Amino acid sequence: MSLTQKVIIAMVVGLIVGLIINIANLNTDGSFINQYFVNGFFHVVGTMFVNALKMLVVPLVLFSLICGVCGIGDIKLLGKIGSKSFALYMLTTAIAIATAIIIAAGLGIGEGINAQSNAAFTGKEAPALSQVLINIVPSNPIAAMVNGDMLSIIFFAILVGISMLMVGKKAKSLIEATELLNEVMMKMVNIVMTAAPYAVFCLLAKAIANLGLELLLQLLSYVAVLVGALLFHLFVTLQAVLKIFSRLSPIIFLKKMRNTQVFAFSTSSSNATIPVTLRTVTERLGVNNSVASFTIPFGATINMDGTAIMQGVATVFIANVYGVDLGISGYLTVILMSVLASIGTAGVPGVGLIMLSMVFAQVNLPVEGIGLILGVDRLLDMLRTAVNVSGDAVVSSVVAKSEGKLNIDIYNDPEAGVLDGDETELNLKTEKALADVVAKTHDKN
Ligand code: ASP
Repeated sequence: MSLTQKVIIAMVVGLIVGLIINIANLNTDGSFINQYFVNGFFHVVGTMFVNALKMLVVPLVLFSLICGVCGIGDIKLLGKIGSKSFALYMLTTAIAIATAIIIAAGLGIGEGINAQSNAAFTGKEAPALSQVLINIVPSNPIAAMVNGDMLSIIFFAILVGISMLMVGKKAKSLIEATELLNEVMMKMVNIVMTAAPYAVFCLLAKAIANLGLELLLQLLSYVAVLVGALLFHLFVTLQAVLKIFSRLSPIIFLKKMRNTQVFAFSTSSSNATIPVTLRTVTERLGVNNSVASFTIPFGATINMDGTAIMQGVATVFIANVYGVDLGISGYLTVILMSVLASIGTAGVPGVGLIMLSMVFAQVNLPVEGIGLILGVDRLLDMLRTAVNVSGDAVVSSVVAKSEGKLNIDIYNDPEAGVLDGDETELNLKTEKALADVVAKTHDKN
């Protein structure tokens, strides 16, 4: 069985177990199941796995991006890839939120509902655009890495790569060393992924056990419209973008992305999923590392189509519940604000709600209104994160194809990059051979 199949089975079993715990009410505070399973075993295994993924993000982005820049070897081309992906990211996000607003407003969701908000939500100020720009340049690159500031890390890695190219011949061994480090990190991704089926099971069982299912029913119109809009964007809009701009097959794309979507769904974090997205895009879809190493971490930070859709639907819903008429200019402000807010915020769990509070403040909607949808946000966060990473992969493939940096044979090969466990086995022969190499180099020195 391939890893993808195992992960999907684990996801389904996790959903079922979570549902049973939830519906049978076994998850009450202090109960055996709550203490030892939901907040015990499931929590520990799930969090260890998410930590392992996060552990890979910074070194992987750093090394792969330095290699990517050196691999392109042409600063103009780098600028072209950067501006193309930025334009496509903004375009898909704007389409996403516009579609969401049109669907939600067309259906008039939230009209006639007089829901009571029982959860308090306090908003956050939007970071000023100037601050977002300033933050791209890190005053301390190590601090940026410690904090996982993706845009700063990208900026620093690109500069290191360019400088290595400028040093020229002398830097050759350093470039080779970085390539090796990148390969080692990629192997580490494979190792971590072998634990995925167990971790995905735990993450889902825990998340679903903790869901307020009755709330889900109360907010049925909101949830249903949002899920519909997310699926529409994933299966129609994004695939149309892929087909129109690159003529690649959406069916192959969707099949190969399943695994990555499950990771995004289970972790609710585009950032934590970067190692998996990067692996899928390069090894399964054939995108050259010189493009993927830039577009994937960049997209995880600035491109959030699913989150934008949530903002569109939530704005219409809450405006209707509170009887506020936003008008065309109000909705245009929402679109602009959501696109801008997505640039300055990282892809981590729950950040969509924070962005929403920034948007509400702009159009004078009551920020407490977010309390209404708070209870169902966990599940929706999972779904929209899967859409977010799919958008990153579409743009990455489109940009790579347009620059002749996509290997179509890999893209079309259903077996390319499939992980079946062999890749992470260190067989005795290799071990021995490696030991010999190390011993010989030692002797020489
Ligand atoms: N969790 C989402 C992501 O990481 C962001 C959000 O919508 O809250 O992409």
